[in-house]
Amino acid sequence: MASYYNENTVLWLDGKIQKASETKTDLYGQSLHYGYAVFEGIRSYRTASGETKIFKPVEHYDRLKRSAEALNMPYNYTTQQLIEATYEILKKNNLQDAYIRPVVYGPANMSFNPNTESFTVIQAWEMAPFLGEKLLKVMTSSFQRPNPKGFKIEAKASGHYVNSILASQEAKGKGFDEALLTDMNGFIAEAPGANMFFEKDGRLFTPATGNILPGITRATVLEICAELDIPVEEGQYTPNQLKQADSAFFCGTAAEVIGWSSIDDYTFPKPWASTLGRKVQEAYMDKVKEKQNQLETI
Ligand code: PMP
Repeated sequence: MASYYNENTVLWLDGKIQKASETKTDLYGQSLHYGYAVFEGIRSYRTASGETKIFKPVEHYDRLKRSAEALNMPYNYTTQQLIEATYEILKKNNLQDAYIRPVVYGPANMSFNPNTESFTVIQAWEMAPFLGEKLLKVMTSSFQRPNPKGFKIEAKASGHYVNSILASQEAKGKGFDEALLTDMNGFIAEAPGANMFFEKDGRLFTPATGNILPGITRATVLEICAELDIPVEEGQYTPNQLKQADSAFFCGTAAEVIGWSSIDDYTFPKPWASTLGRKVQEAYMDKVKEKQNQLETI
C-alpha cells in the first residue's frame, strides 16, 4: 500500500494543525457507512519563480461548497479561509508539488437525517500524475456513470466513487490502463476520475456537461483552446464516433493532460507529438507552473 503520510506529516482539521498519525475519527457516521461526504482534489506546483502556488484554488473550494450544499451538508468556512489553511499545510509539510485533498464529512449519525454540524479536513501529499505519463490503453467500461436523476452528478460526493472504483478495477483487470464510462444514454462521458477530449479533422470534441463532473481542468482546456485558436465543440458523442477519431486525451487535476494510444481495439492513428492534445498538454503545464506559454509567443 502506498504511504500518504509519515510520523511527521500534519493535516488541518477544523482550524487545528494535527499530526496525521494521531488524528481520530468517529466510526459511527454517514460518511463512512453511506459515502455521504464531499471532497476536492487540488494540486499545487513549484512555479517558474520558485514559489509554491495552488492551481485554481478558488474554483476548487467554490466547488467543494457547492458539493456540500448539493448534499445538504453544513459548510463552515469561506473559500479564503480554506485557501489559507491549505498554504499553511503545504508549508508545514514542506511540500511544493503536491496533491491536496480536502474532505467535508459528518459526525456520529447512523440515520438518514441531516446533520447540524460537519468536519473539514485538509490533507496533502506528493503524487505523480495519477494515470502515469505514458499513452494510455483505454477500455469502454461496462459500467455507466451514475444517472443524474439518482445522484447530484455535478457534486464531488464520496459515494459516487464506488462507480469509479468498479470501472477502474474492471479496466485494469482486463489489462487496460483506464476506463471510459458512458452516460445513461450510452454517449461517451468521462473516466473514473478525469474528463476527456477527442480530436477529429483539426477540431477537439468533449462531452457536454449534464452527465459528467464539470472538471476544472476541462474548463482550463477550453480556456487554452480559446487562447490557442483551437476549435472545440461540446456535445453528445457515441463510442463509434470516438473510434473514428485522430487522437484523444484525459484531463483532470490529478491526471493533468494525458494522451491515449487506443480505445478497445481501435488505435488512434495520429502520433501523439503532432496532436492537438499534445499542444494542450504543453500549454497546461506552462499554465500550472506559470511559465510563459511558448506556443502563444510564436
Ligand atoms: N470527472 C471525475 C469523475 C473526476 O473525479 C474528476 C477529478 N476531480 C474529473 C472529472 C476532473 O475534474 P477536475 O479537472 O476538476 O480535477
